[in-house]
Amino acid sequence: MITFNKPPLTGNESKYVLEAIQSNKISGDSFFGKKCQAWFENNLNAPKTLLTPSCTAALEMAAILIDIQPNDEVIMPSYTFVSTANAFVLRGAKIVFVDIRSDTMNIDETKIEAAITSKTKAIVPVHYAGVACEMDSIMSLASKYDLFVIEDAAQGMMSTYKGKSLGTIGHLGTYSFHETKNYTSGGEGGLLIINDKKIISRAEVIREKGTNRSQFFRGMVDKYTWVDIGSSYLPSEIQSAYLWGQLESAEEINNNRLESWHLYYELLKPLSSKYKFTLPTIPVELKHNGHMFYLKLRDIEQRNEFINNLKDNQVNAVFHYIPLHSAPAGIEFGKFSGEDVLTTRESEKLVRLPIWYGISNTQIQLIVNVIEGFFKNNP
Ligand SMILES: *Cc1c(COP(=O)(O)O)cnc(C)c1O
Repeated sequence: MITFNKPPLTGNESKYVLEAIQSNKISGDSFFGKKCQAWFENNLNAPKTLLTPSCTAALEMAAILIDIQPNDEVIMPSYTFVSTANAFVLRGAKIVFVDIRSDTMNIDETKIEAAITSKTKAIVPVHYAGVACEMDSIMSLASKYDLFVIEDAAQGMMSTYKGKSLGTIGHLGTYSFHETKNYTSGGEGGLLIINDKKIISRAEVIREKGTNRSQFFRGMVDKYTWVDIGSSYLPSEIQSAYLWGQLESAEEINNNRLESWHLYYELLKPLSSKYKFTLPTIPVELKHNGHMFYLKLRDIEQRNEFINNLKDNQVNAVFHYIPLHSAPAGIEFGKFSGEDVLTTRESEKLVRLPIWYGISNTQIQLIVNVIEGFFKNNP
């Protein structure tokens, strides 16, 4: 069986994890934690980054930091992972879902303005498959209506929009280091990117259980105490040590994924015109990270036959995101702005092919052969 995903592993992770264990300092913000944050601040050119136990936790921090109050409205696509919405629902927000574009599966920036009301507090663009949303339009709407922008860049590490790293364009951005993402901190992990300098000191407090412990360590206060709401949003040193092994090889992982992505694209391009399925679109001014390779088929029936056929041929392909507005909690906590023209229709066509750091060209060729066989038999 060719699995759908394999967590990235470059070789040095276990060495650094062992070093962390032997250092006798395994709580958060120790040697490797600081090293990882410094790496992100340099490489992203971001004023402050904070490692978190997950992207979900980073999104929850973001919702606290922009001071979401009950009945505030937050705009986002419905075609996303539950955490994008949940983080804001936890603070009492109402989610306003906006339709997506069919080319990138990202929020349709031209439909956002119609969703803005006097209660709107933030826009949360999700960079699907590591391909950037149309951030210039989103940022100008945000400044026109005085809204926060929180980029859910869970899938977007190493991708850029007009030269800027994803997650560094809005007021706040988040990454995921879950095992299914391009980089992992040992299974679970995340990052909060803080681009608005005014938010930095409160972010440190929220992350340290509502205390000013970070300031205490920097010698700025004599003793640390409870000053605000907060929670435990630090990952352990073991997670950071694992992540450090991957950050050292960040370029190598990215290049390897992009090579696999381009091989899929080249091999599938002639088949896609012959058999009428759709390949991903990457707008020209963007650099992506090969996070995902997906196809869009005719409809949900063909998509399900396709997945079953691949499974019969030892290839594990998957689909994802039942649109949130049609899920039980989405109905309770959200509403769709305007009409759902593309979200449901396009999500039902989508299937993801196996792609991971180290997938071989032979495996990709084999998967493409199985795909060709499917279409030959099911024209
Ligand atoms: C993976 C993912 C998340 C959640 O990340 P965790 O690190 O598992 O909490 C959130 N949003 C999007 C778009 C994701 O793909």
